[in-house]
Amino acid sequence: MSEFDVIVIGSGMGGMTTATALSRLEHKVLLLEQAQSIGGLTHSFSREGFSWDVGLHYCGLFGRDQSAGKILDWLSGGTIEFRSIGTVYDTLHFPDGFDISVARPEAAYKMELKDRFPDNAAEIDTYFEAIESAETAATMVAGGRSVPEPFRAAQRWLNRRKIERWVGRTTGEVIADIITDPKLASVLSAQWGTYGGKPKEASFGVHAIIMRHYLEGAGYPVGGASSIAAGLVPVIEAAGGSARPATPVAAILFEEGKAVGVRTSAGEEFKAPAVVSAIGAGETVKRLLPEDIREQDWAREIASFKPAVCHFEVYLGFEGDIARHGATRSNHWFHENWDTDDGIWAVADGSPIPMLFVSFPSLKDPEHDPGPSNKHTGQAMVWADWSSVAEFADREPGELAAEWTAFKQSVEAKLMAFFEEKFPALAPLVVYRELGTPLATAAFTRHEKGGFYGVETTPRRMLSEALAARTPVPGLFLTGQDVMTPGIAGALAGGMLGAAAVDPRVYRKFDW
Ligand SMILES: Cc1cc2nc3c(=O)[nH]c(=O)nc-3n(C[C@H](O)[C@H](O)[C@H](O)COP(=O)(O)OP(=O)(O)OC[C@H]3O[C@@H](n4cnc5c(N)ncnc54)[C@H](O)[C@@H]3O)c2cc1C
Repeated sequence: MSEFDVIVIGSGMGGMTTATALSRLEHKVLLLEQAQSIGGLTHSFSREGFSWDVGLHYCGLFGRDQSAGKILDWLSGGTIEFRSIGTVYDTLHFPDGFDISVARPEAAYKMELKDRFPDNAAEIDTYFEAIESAETAATMVAGGRSVPEPFRAAQRWLNRRKIERWVGRTTGEVIADIITDPKLASVLSAQWGTYGGKPKEASFGVHAIIMRHYLEGAGYPVGGASSIAAGLVPVIEAAGGSARPATPVAAILFEEGKAVGVRTSAGEEFKAPAVVSAIGAGETVKRLLPEDIREQDWAREIASFKPAVCHFEVYLGFEGDIARHGATRSNHWFHENWDTDDGIWAVADGSPIPMLFVSFPSLKDPEHDPGPSNKHTGQAMVWADWSSVAEFADREPGELAAEWTAFKQSVEAKLMAFFEEKFPALAPLVVYRELGTPLATAAFTRHEKGGFYGVETTPRRMLSEALAARTPVPGLFLTGQDVMTPGIAGALAGGMLGAAAVDPRVYRKFDW
């Protein structure tokens, strides 16, 4: 007899969603997390009275009357609340002082684009029609992977033209087909950092899902991202399950070709009839499966995907009235040139930072108490190439320590110089700063090469049938962002697909 009905490995948004959904349907779930706390990229950390989220700046669709918000309400019993971050959620900055606000609702953003690009009004309408159609196609493809044959094959065949047109081509290809003004094309692809695939590589389907999920506005969790785990873990425990941090899983156990449990790094074994991995599809295949299963076609296909982009981030603590000195609830995207494909920083080759994202989370959280010294937070993030840190990875402790320290200081100085240039009045209010590196992401989340968005977001990934929540191995399931799309809403949807693959009653809770 197993003590648990289901084991979920990894406690990010995906793993927590799967575990909580199954708990809501009275399964006893064991949720195992390698890190010291539950939450994965929804984790928050504090230093000297400041607190930051590691993987959430803004989310779409989490209003109580919106699709992700309704699911979260069902999971948490209404204990987690997202509030709007305001009408303008992104401000895009291009060279020569060309700035443009991205505001809700969709009609407002469209109007702004048409005001700024009056000669391209018809093309702008075509683009908005394209993302709507592409969102439907991409959701069908990604969600459909979990639908049993022969329905899945029939669905794909019936929609094959739409799928090839929108999901099978890159963001850059589709936008170039629709938009004749290169500057407008850059504006429309400027937020690719929200899914981590530059325009010439990412599927237009992923672009469409993520761009559209923000169109009716963005929200931020009251109390910060850690409120998500605080709201979900009690539901898992109330159903007789358990969420255990500091418990890395070393292997998934199989008997007669069926997944039957896991072994932790400490050698403890847990058995259950269903094992769901939420650590990332690539990481699952490469690290937790025995060789005979790793050699199966579906697993080899997953292993062939590259990890997504990694990042550097400087966490800032301010004292003072940051709103009066230039900070906003809207995020800022600074593009240093008009080529949005050129947004990934390769530190090692000495090139300047091409693109910086800045967010002020304390202004977004209605529960933030600045205290007597008026404490506020900011985050400045750069998308980077793993080659930037490759020479420091896999070193023994102490090896290259001096070089690593010097490297970090130089990266932090460059980020700070960029930040100060864009926010000169805010820089003097900084009283605390700390650099996050791709090596830290790799250590805290165990994502391969710090690829926090999971596997690549190319058309090949989107069209891959290998990324289904139900694997061909009985008892083994995948969940999280890789079975749907990157992002908190994507991981939630992937989490629901993972739960539905274990217990189809979960499908009834979908309201997409
Ligand atoms: C800097 C940054 C900013 C972001 N901003 C946003 C944003 O504003 N909006 C948005 O929607 N998305 C954002 N994202 C993306 C979003 O955070 C992710 O897409 C999402 O959280 C992924 O969820 P997940 O559950 O699939 O993966 P994860 O949260 O990475 O969870 C995987 C978990 O598995 C655990 N694990 C790994 N190996 C093992 C093992 N062997 N045993 C046990 N546990 C293991 C890890 O520790 C981790 O907790 C951001 C990400 C980052 C890094």
